[in-house]
Amino acid sequence: MEQYFVKNVISGNSFAIDDPETFKHVAKVMRHKNGDVVYLVDTNEKLYAATITKIDVDNSQILTAVELVDSPSTEMPVAVTVACSLSKKDKIEWITQKSTELGATTIVFFDSKYSIMKWKKNVVEKKLARLQEIAKNAAQQSKRRIIPEVIYVDNLQDLLKYKAEANLVAYEESAKQGEISRLVQTLDETPKSVLCAFGPEGGFAPDEIDFLNQADFLSVGLGPRIMRAETAPMYFLSVLSYKYELTVK
Ligand code: SAM
Repeated sequence: MEQYFVKNVISGNSFAIDDPETFKHVAKVMRHKNGDVVYLVDTNEKLYAATITKIDVDNSQILTAVELVDSPSTEMPVAVTVACSLSKKDKIEWITQKSTELGATTIVFFDSKYSIMKWKKNVVEKKLARLQEIAKNAAQQSKRRIIPEVIYVDNLQDLLKYKAEANLVAYEESAKQGEISRLVQTLDETPKSVLCAFGPEGGFAPDEIDFLNQADFLSVGLGPRIMRAETAPMYFLSVLSYKYELTVK
């Protein structure tokens, strides 16, 4: 089942797909024909089955007959922000794709003391556009109802703008000291939104942890093993899915 996001609210029983990229994918890449069905998610996060009625090549439009699909949302019941320290291009792209598959609502990249990569101001827009495209493709592929927003901040102070109801910092030193209960306690309180910050390969500097702790970020351990910078957010997102989305019937 192919899914596409549309930038409109779908109402009534017909819809014209006119976004050039979606048109190209449906008509030229997938070579769909009249009668084929694709799935559309509108800006109200509603899912529709769209049966193609006409492929209008002259106007680059695909006309469809739409029907609301009454299936449960694929979104986590809690809004999750993963805030990751900047790293190499392939790693941040991987983090963006996998965090989207695992249900993140917002993905923030931030510059920190031991980040090995720095973004110059003039490249930020282009890099974010590429990451946003990766998030969109991953969201379509994993049947999300939203496309996570990808954000960049060049300092920890600006990260505070994205604070959630519960704010955590995954701290390797906490893990080394055997801290195993704060994440469990936080999630047991079922916050509506949660943010967790992750350090770079070199870890967080102590003054960065002090700063975040003073801003009400709780230092948490994520188990006894120290994970790579890109693995830790995936562990965190998987824990949230286990906690809030799985159950014994
Ligand atoms: N250089 C650090 C060291 O040798 O202790 C390890 C940093 S780790 C590769 C990168 C980031 O992943 C950390 O800053 C932290 O945010 C997160 N992380 C990895 N494993 C963790 C764990 N078991 N508990 C908490 N955070 C962890």
